[in-house]
Amino acid sequence: MFETVNPATGEARPPIEELDAAGIEAALATAHAAYKDWRLTSVETRTDLLSKIAEAFEANKDRLAHTATEEMGKTLKSAIAEVEKCAAGFRYYAEAGPDFLKDQRVQTKGGHAIATWQPIGIVLAVMPWNFPYWQVVRFLAPAILAGNVGLLKHASITQGCGALIEEMVRAAGAPEGLFTNLPIKSGAVEALIADDRVAAVTLTGSEGAGQKVAEAAGRALKKVVLELGGSDPFIVLPSADLDEAAKVATTARIQNAGQSCICAKRMIVHADVFDAFLDKFSAAMRAAKVGDPMDEANDIGPLSSFEQRDTVIEQVARAREEGARLLFGAEKLDLPGAYLTPGILLDVDPDSDFAKEELFGPVAMVFRADDLDAAIALANDVPFGLGSSIWTNDEGERERLVRDLECGMVAVNQMVASVPEAPFGGIKRSGHGRELGPWGMHEFMNLKAVLVK
Ligand code: NDP
Repeated sequence: MFETVNPATGEARPPIEELDAAGIEAALATAHAAYKDWRLTSVETRTDLLSKIAEAFEANKDRLAHTATEEMGKTLKSAIAEVEKCAAGFRYYAEAGPDFLKDQRVQTKGGHAIATWQPIGIVLAVMPWNFPYWQVVRFLAPAILAGNVGLLKHASITQGCGALIEEMVRAAGAPEGLFTNLPIKSGAVEALIADDRVAAVTLTGSEGAGQKVAEAAGRALKKVVLELGGSDPFIVLPSADLDEAAKVATTARIQNAGQSCICAKRMIVHADVFDAFLDKFSAAMRAAKVGDPMDEANDIGPLSSFEQRDTVIEQVARAREEGARLLFGAEKLDLPGAYLTPGILLDVDPDSDFAKEELFGPVAMVFRADDLDAAIALANDVPFGLGSSIWTNDEGERERLVRDLECGMVAVNQMVASVPEAPFGGIKRSGHGRELGPWGMHEFMNLKAVLVK
């Protein structure tokens, strides 16, 4: 059984039954059979289904959003926005996707070759709780268009969201087995990866889970895409619009109660504007409202679980032991849920253990950098390399930062976000491979060469 609590209240949620070995085998067999037919379907059949899934998400927006909020505590307004983003993601692949499947012809010495995109089979997705719909859609929409089929192992605390995604896909008229939510625990994943019927695996989550899944995929010689943690820098230079930078930095740190891989976690501010930025940023962080995630007025709900809150509190305590100064925040609320107030840490030692970790909660680190070189060095001085947000109106600085930041994504005068059209992913310990756009779809396709005389 999956036994979970609503992190906003601490109350137990209805338990969800775990799938047993016979159930997993039946789901695999059905998915395998579904692939044999789905790989032969026309692009129109696939795009029609994607459009209908988008409609199902929209028609069930409130139910989907409530389940996410009750399971992992995000504000209802952000859960609704996430469901809308999912519908747009399915539509993006329905509309733009067919072009990504077009053959490419190249001349060869003996004639010509055609590079043609073909599906690969069952893709297993191991997904986290933080964006319980969007993380899944990032793999599922391109998989459907590619002619693949999907199996989902969702996080233990968002099993209800996983079941609802399957319900939406079925309601849209998908054939049996095209997408199956497997209510299983992480211990069942390795055997699934080893199974010959599974072609590839994609994981979004922590480094630890990524290592385990990559090991299993390596043993089975299967393709794996990993979207792991991040400790994204948010670099503010003197030519930036400081009011806008402080406002966006706040949103970028506290979105989803600070639990996003692409949250801005380290604010790196040029010495010339450090004090002015810190004043504005502190004011905006203090003004963020924490409380009942169902209440439209609140910006931050509880963290996803009491364990997650304890982890953040422990990390902040360790940072202070290692010399950091807590300016304010990182406090529990006098409410039954897993609430934590937004906070700011100063004087974090960049060489401390804490500074090398992902901080998955609404607490920002603010660093001072004497010049652009120092800012870049600080930004790169972590094991992660996911996104970076850079704030400058100087063209030369922008070029330097885009060239020298060790990361997969750079957002200029805006926060990092995943948008369907652009590649999403990181380098270093943030993982490898890309999601979204044509790149995400092609990760799980067979690029077959046809040599013609
Ligand atoms: P996990 O990485 O443990 O969970 C992500 C997914 O991986 C879940 O479905 C989980 O299942 C599964 N999983 C975990 N361990 C294994 C394993 N050995 N083999 C196969 N699957 C596995 O995230 P947590 O919830 O434990 O969060 C811990 C930390 O991870 C956070 O504090 C944050 O730093 C990071 N994180 C990063 C995310 C991102 O978007 N990059 C998202 C979530 C977390 P189950 O839930 O059943 O354990």
